[in-house]
Amino acid sequence: MMCQGLHDRLAASHAKLMRGLVWCRSCGRSTRVDPAGALRHGWPRCCDATMTIDAPDERGTPS
Ligand SMILES: [Zn+2]
Repeated sequence: MMCQGLHDRLAASHAKLMRGLVWCRSCGRSTRVDPAGALRHGWPRCCDATMTIDAPDERGTPS
């Protein structure tokens, strides 16, 4: 099915969100975050950009 890949991506994104860790794409700094609180009060930022839920070693790998 064409939508299977999208579903898997969404499920993976949710798992990444719930683990409560974010990284800066620029300097590589990582920090803990409360997902619910961050979504409500503002996502953590570093180096003038929002931090990502994608770990550095998870980027660029085909899903
Ligand atoms: Zn940074």
